[in-house]
Amino acid sequence: MDYTKNQILTVEITDMTAEGEGIGKYEGYPFFVKDTVIGDRVQIRVTRVKKNYAYGRLEKVLTPSPFRVEPRCAFHRQCGGCQIQTMSYEQQLKFKESKIRNNLIRIGGLSPDLLDEIMEPIVGMEEPFHYRNKAQYPIGADRSGNPVAGFYAGRTHSIIANTRCELGAEENTEILETILAYMKEYRVPAYNEVTGEGLIRHVLIRKGFAGGEIMVCIVINGKKGSESSLPAREELIRRLSAVKNMTSLSLSFNPEKTNVIMGKDVSTIWGRDTIQDTIYVRDVHRDFDRIGRGITFAISPLSFYQVNPVQTEKLYSLALDYAALTGKETVWDLYCGIGTISLFMAERAGQVYGVEVVPQAVEDAKRNCADNGIRNAQFLLGKAEKILPEKFEKESISADVIVVDPPRKGCDGACLETMLKIAPERIVYVSCDSATLARDLKVLREGGYEVERVRGVDMFPMTGHVETVVLLSHKSSE
Ligand code: SAH
Repeated sequence: MDYTKNQILTVEITDMTAEGEGIGKYEGYPFFVKDTVIGDRVQIRVTRVKKNYAYGRLEKVLTPSPFRVEPRCAFHRQCGGCQIQTMSYEQQLKFKESKIRNNLIRIGGLSPDLLDEIMEPIVGMEEPFHYRNKAQYPIGADRSGNPVAGFYAGRTHSIIANTRCELGAEENTEILETILAYMKEYRVPAYNEVTGEGLIRHVLIRKGFAGGEIMVCIVINGKKGSESSLPAREELIRRLSAVKNMTSLSLSFNPEKTNVIMGKDVSTIWGRDTIQDTIYVRDVHRDFDRIGRGITFAISPLSFYQVNPVQTEKLYSLALDYAALTGKETVWDLYCGIGTISLFMAERAGQVYGVEVVPQAVEDAKRNCADNGIRNAQFLLGKAEKILPEKFEKESISADVIVVDPPRKGCDGACLETMLKIAPERIVYVSCDSATLARDLKVLREGGYEVERVRGVDMFPMTGHVETVVLLSHKSSE
């Protein structure tokens, strides 16, 4: 094509990628433009030209889309975090719903008619900001060498200083400012990704929304046991422990030159090893009113825990509703984390088995089970695609319901294959990536299951991500 870099064009944004990038056409040729909303007429600067498409940078909004809103955060364009903050929340929900639907049709092979019949309306949030209970801030230095905490500028590794994120807990600012002031005063060097030198790499902050408990884990460039490399450690502890509701302070050791944030080892330097949070089941048929007793979870720094507690209650309640337990069933909860879904299922099932690959998470799961007085759940450490086939072949285990909640890459082929052999009556699939969900549903449908219910849950407002819950039933049980 004859477009050149830096050329200025006017385009109308008519579509959107699954990541929330606007798509506009100029003489039939598609341009991808970040920070735009369907319905915008914009001036763009061409940044990269490929054979069949090109990228442009938003220069000016000429006529704003009716769905465009004022962003709350001044950094929304530089930060990679909130891809769709300039889209009205109502429109974000529509966008996510159609993303799920399109993936299920295009990749999963579901018919539009079936989806019209079974797909339930997406579950949104009343207050779609400050919903995250977890934040991981990279620490670096500015040009004059002062320590900064912030976020990586979209797709790069340069840090833009900002301790106030519109998605995170309000307490994060005070905690980060305390750490930065300490670093400055005691000349504690921030880690430098290029040279591999310096000490403080990241700060992880977690908050249990139910009781307010706060955990701070500082990731340092050093081996396990190098706690003493932190200068004036007692002073740092004194200051951080004075923050309201501070419950747990720890260090994580990560001496590797890697993008992975947390090291494998953690050592508590003040307070408890874990913080607590309580999750309540809600009535999915009555406006998600709270029902039943809550279950309290202890969470350690390395364990996975859902980041949006308000929506997590709705998500788990839907998973429970889809599982339709009567008190007798055997349930397998694969990719169980700290046993959250498993324990809710256990209260309504005969026996539950959870499978999880992170050792600390399995430890947390066992403790959470005991602490909540639940006796009919067991937790197994290992990969789902290894444990499930082994148990099936050696002990010919059975299951009435299998719940899966895999990471973004979806279920492993061996895991799906074994699920089909075990042939539970129902499978509840909880997914944070509707493309891999659709891919896996195709396999399960070809193996004898039909999709009965589908519902999106917006766990990540302002971002392009969306969670989906699906119920599949074995065709023979109809
Ligand atoms: N259901 C849980 C956790 C979901 S996140 C909750 O809602 O909190 C996915 C979990 O799968 C993580 O805890 C991750 O450590 C785990 N995991 C990743 N790959 C795995 C695998 N191959 N086998 C088992 N667990 C795995």
